[in-house]
Amino acid sequence: MKADLHNHSYYSDGVLSPSEVVRLASEAECDLFSLTDHDTTDGIAEAQLEADKLNLNLVNGVEISALWRNMAIHILGLGIDVNNEILQTGLEHNQKLRKERAEKIALDLWRSGIKDALEKTQSFSKTEMLTRTHFAQMLISEGYCKDMKAVFRRYLTGKKPGGVRVEWEDFDEIVHWIHSAGGKALIAHPFRYRMTHTKIKAMLNDFKCVLGDGIEIVTGTSSDEEIQLGNQWAGKYNLLATCGSDFHGWPNQRVRIGNLRDLPDPEKAVWRYL
Ligand code: AMP
Ligand code: MN
Ligand code: MN
Ligand code: MN
Repeated sequence: MKADLHNHSYYSDGVLSPSEVVRLASEAECDLFSLTDHDTTDGIAEAQLEADKLNLNLVNGVEISALWRNMAIHILGLGIDVNNEILQTGLEHNQKLRKERAEKIALDLWRSGIKDALEKTQSFSKTEMLTRTHFAQMLISEGYCKDMKAVFRRYLTGKKPGGVRVEWEDFDEIVHWIHSAGGKALIAHPFRYRMTHTKIKAMLNDFKCVLGDGIEIVTGTSSDEEIQLGNQWAGKYNLLATCGSDFHGWPNQRVRIGNLRDLPDPEKAVWRYL
């Protein structure tokens, strides 16, 4: 079973169209694939058309921005009904928060001498959606930084220029949106947050308490140790498991679609419950 259930298109911060992303999944011979753009399902209709043409099994997905103990985290919603009103109202709320944040980021960058950041950044997005990745592309293209890594070291986080806190909803609310739409809610890339293992475990425990369904155990950049630990924790907190490359299609992103290590415990795979 080759599943890749975490991927981005230009409907959020990926560079390819939904059709192009689906074609790559088909070429990689994925049995199961999901497009999980940040806080929007707008790319899914196009992805579904292409998936039908290529006979690829598409799972409706989304990656929703959330808070846990005031820390920003990402919750994957898989197997969702994209027409569900509670889910779409929630996503529209997040899109509004993103718009407000983009304006604040631009203002903060202006204070450190970077002019017209909003207009310039908009040209890097094919849609209304503005992510920090679009600001990062702008800062690279304007010569402020040499690559993404350098951007997030010097800008767009914490108290650095363009660092703006967002009051996303707490993760129990996000689980509610996803469950209302008939989907499964899973914590994305648990090892990518600035958290100790103790803290990640506390988060997983809380997630189970608010009826969260699972965690992403395998990503495109996971180490063997992370996969083993993730699997151990999934067992301990009785959570389902998912895997996804978190493909964005950026030129220097080494991740490829459908190129993932197997889940250690296939019995716990989320697709068995979708
Ligand atoms: P946003 O959802 O708009 O806050 O943007 C977050 C996105 O920025 C993530 O999904 C990543 O794609 C990207 N990102 C965040 N931190 C980093 C980093 N340190 N290096 C590269 N990309 C990052
Ligand atoms: Mn992203
Ligand atoms: Mn993420
Ligand atoms: Mn992602």
